[in-house]
Amino acid sequence: MGMTMLSGQLLRKGYTIRSGYDWLIASKPVQSWSIIVWNNWNIPKHFILTWLIMNDGMNFKGKLFKWGCCDDDLCYLCHREIETTEHLFLACEYSCRVSTEVESWMGTTFPTLNSLINGNKKHLQWRVLAVVLNAVYYNVWMQRNNARVNAMILRPEHVAKRIKDMVAKRLKFKLGGNSDQNAIFWMRNIGI
Ligand SMILES: [Zn+2]
Repeated sequence: MGMTMLSGQLLRKGYTIRSGYDWLIASKPVQSWSIIVWNNWNIPKHFILTWLIMNDGMNFKGKLFKWGCCDDDLCYLCHREIETTEHLFLACEYSCRVSTEVESWMGTTFPTLNSLINGNKKHLQWRVLAVVLNAVYYNVWMQRNNARVNAMILRPEHVAKRIKDMVAKRLKFKLGGNSDQNAIFWMRNIGI
């Protein structure tokens, strides 16, 4: 399965590298993107990682290679492209496959960064999508580290299942005794 096909699928769904990159380099006003991170529905360890990504606080291989700290600059997950922020989270074949698997169980398009920034933050769906987006970044980063340290990675469908379990646990905690029928109906629709 080639990158072209995966990229094509995602681009058709509006998941453009450019839109994500604009957000990652913080070209948006701080108050626009920060709500995606500093949202109390997000799983804490997940949004802390997203915050570090946005603030260029991660030592990606492309950067380390320039500093002479490693022998090559290739992505640990696909071994095809230089490991940069935008490659790892937005363009890497592995990340795209995880996103596609997540779309599959949610039955909806994977959230774009811009769609979240421009969405209605009070809607349950928006909160869930923000939780999912942060969870995807976190789990891709974990698999990247798994590849670096243990030379192995989980298959995308397993990572997607892990993300689903994490998101389900978090949402059940946040909803608590919420008896809103619309919320319950929507949650069941996405299999949670
Ligand atoms: Zn890659």
